[in-house]
Amino acid sequence: MLIVISFFIAHWYASVFAQSFFLHRYMAHRMFSMSAFWERFFYFFTFATQGSSFLHPKSYAQLHLEHHKHSDTENDPHSPHFLKDVVSMMINTGRIYLDFKNGRRQSSSPYIESLPTWNTIDRIGNSHLVRLAFCGLYVALYLWASPPIWMYALLPIHFLMGPVHGAFVNWCGHKYGYRNYETSDRSKNTFPWDILFVGETFQNNHHRFPNRLNFATRWYELDLGYPVIWLLGKLRIVVPR
Ligand SMILES: [Zn+2]
Ligand SMILES: [Zn+2]
Repeated sequence: MLIVISFFIAHWYASVFAQSFFLHRYMAHRMFSMSAFWERFFYFFTFATQGSSFLHPKSYAQLHLEHHKHSDTENDPHSPHFLKDVVSMMINTGRIYLDFKNGRRQSSSPYIESLPTWNTIDRIGNSHLVRLAFCGLYVALYLWASPPIWMYALLPIHFLMGPVHGAFVNWCGHKYGYRNYETSDRSKNTFPWDILFVGETFQNNHHRFPNRLNFATRWYELDLGYPVIWLLGKLRIVVPR
């Protein structure tokens, strides 16, 4: 049981950190720069930690920038105020994400064109066979650890880790919590639950200051992703802009 709990926590935080650090703060917003080596390292890290639910980085960035552009309007890919429940929000988000990934929807700009891609990882990470192999790996670990039977109910969360994080952040971050700033959307800060999402549900702060590296803006708020990125800055792995 302890092995499964540890694996669940490790997978949850590694995956949400990859999404926040690499996909969101680096790919979508370029809040910091890093060398070609570290860029590839974190590209691979995102693939390895999201595993069966790997999100194509460039398509994620395009999808996310659409959210900023149309936040809480009918053109927002995932506004909880225009989509009736979490499932329909996830379906709509998935549809627009796939449109970007498969080239049916374009948002060409010099910025988007400058985003890095890694064809080998994109091909492997998006292969159905590889996604299935990751699912098999999670199941094998559970079978090996043989936890109480109810814990197998956690497996679908492992399978869909990336979209599960996205669903929580997009739904809760625009629906529950408090606002520090008047913005044109309906974003909220979902603190203290944000400790599960390493800064991502400080949506109101983030929409007000979209390029600010630290998503916490009040003395009592804590963006758990920020101290890690600060440390990476001290180690000269990233250079904040
Ligand atoms: Zn938002
Ligand atoms: Zn953003």
